[in-house]
Amino acid sequence: MPVTAKEIRSWNPWHGCTRVSPGCLHCYVYRRDEAFGSPGASSLCRRTADFGLPVRRGRGGGYSLPSGSLVYTCFTSDFLLTDADVWRPECWRMIRERQDCDFVFFTKRIERLPECLPPDWGDGYENVRIGCTVENRDRADFRLPIFRSLPIKHRLIVAEPLLERLDLSPYLDGLIGEVSAGGESGDGARPCDYSWILDLRDQCVRAGVSFTFHQTGARFVKDGRTYMIRRGLQHGQAARAGLDFRAGDDEKEPSFVEKRPSF
Ligand code: SF4
Repeated sequence: MPVTAKEIRSWNPWHGCTRVSPGCLHCYVYRRDEAFGSPGASSLCRRTADFGLPVRRGRGGGYSLPSGSLVYTCFTSDFLLTDADVWRPECWRMIRERQDCDFVFFTKRIERLPECLPPDWGDGYENVRIGCTVENRDRADFRLPIFRSLPIKHRLIVAEPLLERLDLSPYLDGLIGEVSAGGESGDGARPCDYSWILDLRDQCVRAGVSFTFHQTGARFVKDGRTYMIRRGLQHGQAARAGLDFRAGDDEKEPSFVEKRPSF
């Protein structure tokens, strides 16, 4: 699932979400709103001023969003949130109009996808990549069979914040473009054990699926010892571990999740 020479952009058509599973406990949207003095803002989902971003036009009449952009979509909410059902059809229309850009969203509500799809979805839009988040064994075993059964052109598993050792091997094959794993950031972050990361990487290598170690998280355990990692170092430390693996055609190509927002 290589992506090269892309502009990286964010598009948050709505803001706010409700917690749905253990991975949401220290949701970064809530943390960020608290940090900016708006603790009540996170649970109230509302449309943002950026709603029409993909089709906004500049003074010259062309699109403001450059052609070829990789657009991280809905990273201050969940694209499949029920509260946003009324707005989503217009988002699909904009995504369809901008086939010159790739849109990627992650979700903890993959079971809602069938009822959220546009009528012309077919086997999936070529320019849409969907990441299914799995933070523990229970959520992996619930979400991944559903995820694999749905018509999606580009699939990614997001094991972040990783809360325990996972066996994803039953779900790893050519249907999955990549696995991205990482710990939890923020105050009170739950620990992420390096051996869990290594384990996932081994599973990916065996299955021939690309793997990215996205970030260590704030509380990182290695050989039984806990390290507190400052926010600014969490991505760099993960990269320095040298665990990223590009499979098959993805070889020598960067991961398309490299610069994504973190949890
Ligand atoms: S934005 Fe994501 S992590 Fe936060 S509450 Fe929604 S689903 Fe959970």
